[in-house]
Amino acid sequence: MVVARFAPSPTGYLHLGGLRTALFNYLLARSQGGQFMLRIEDTDTARTVPGAAESLANTLKIFGLQYDAGPDKPSSTGPFVQSQRSAIYKIHADKLLESGGGYRCFCTHQQLEAQKSKGGYDRRCRHLSNDQIQSNLSQNKPFSIRLKVPEGRTSFTDLIHGKLEFSNRTLDDGIVMKSDGLPTYHLANVVDDRLMGVTHVMRGEEWIPSTPKHVLLYKAFGWDETMPKFAHVPLLVNKDGQKLSKRHSDVNVNSLLEKGYLPEAILNFVGLLGFTPSVSKDIWFLEDFVKEFRIEGLSKSAAIVSYDQLDRL
Ligand code: GLU
Repeated sequence: MVVARFAPSPTGYLHLGGLRTALFNYLLARSQGGQFMLRIEDTDTARTVPGAAESLANTLKIFGLQYDAGPDKPSSTGPFVQSQRSAIYKIHADKLLESGGGYRCFCTHQQLEAQKSKGGYDRRCRHLSNDQIQSNLSQNKPFSIRLKVPEGRTSFTDLIHGKLEFSNRTLDDGIVMKSDGLPTYHLANVVDDRLMGVTHVMRGEEWIPSTPKHVLLYKAFGWDETMPKFAHVPLLVNKDGQKLSKRHSDVNVNSLLEKGYLPEAILNFVGLLGFTPSVSKDIWFLEDFVKEFRIEGLSKSAAIVSYDQLDRL
C-alpha cells in the first residue's frame, strides 16, 4: 500500500509551495487507495513559530486534505509531532554508535568554528581511540553524534528526475544528534519515514542535497531493502524565473483565503502548477485530481506562478 506524507516545519503559515507538496502527496496516496499522513518537523526549536503547526493542520483541512492516523496511532491524537518523539531518535542514534555507522564528536563550538573557516569539519573525532573516547566520557564532555560517511558514491532513482548520483566527498559527516540530545532533521526524518511505513517521499526539489545523506542513513540502519521511493517536486518560480519568496504575501495561502479566493479555486490553481493531467478541462476539483493523478504527469522543470490564472477562475 502507498503511504505518503507531508512533513512541514512549523516555521510559518502554509505557502503555495507547501500546499502543492501536500496536495501531490495526498493525491499520490488517495489515487492508489493509500494513506496520507501529516508530520510536524519541529526539531529545530529556534525556528518553530508558536501556533504554526495548528495553523498548518487547519489549513490542510480547509482544502479537504484529510490526513490519516499512522501505525499504532489513533486518529484523534492528531499528526505526528517530532518534538514528542525525542526518545525514539535517541534509541536510533545509540544504534548508530553501536553498529559503527556513527561516532561521537567532542569538538567544542570554538573548535568547529575554527574548522569551518578552513573548509569544514575535518572529521578528527572519527579517528579517536577507545581510550580517548572513554577519557572524554569520564570527564562528562558533551558530544554530538555524526554519521560516518563512507568512501565512494551514493545514488538513488528519483521518480521525477531519474538517477541522481553524488560523490560522498561532497557530503560531510553530518550531525545526526546534537549535544543537547535532540536529533537533527536528517535523523528524525529518516527514522520517522521508516517507522511510519512511508513508501514514497515526495518533497520540494530543495531537499535533493539531503537525500544522499538519508540514503546513507537507511543503509547504516540496515533498512536499505525497504527504502522509500523519492520524488522531488520542482520549484515554484515567478514570471521572472525567480524562486517564490515567502516574504511575498501572495505565497501565503491564508492571505489568499482572506482575500476571498475560494479554497476550490486555489486548489485548482495549485494542482495544475507543474502537473499536466492526461485529459484537458478547466475546472478541477479535488476528486477529479484524485482520479487523474500520476507521478508521470509531474513536470521536471520549475512551475511558473502567474496570479492572473487564479484571478480568471
Ligand atoms: N521539514 C521539511 C520542510 O519543512 C520537509 C522535508 C521532507 O519532506 O522530507 O519542508
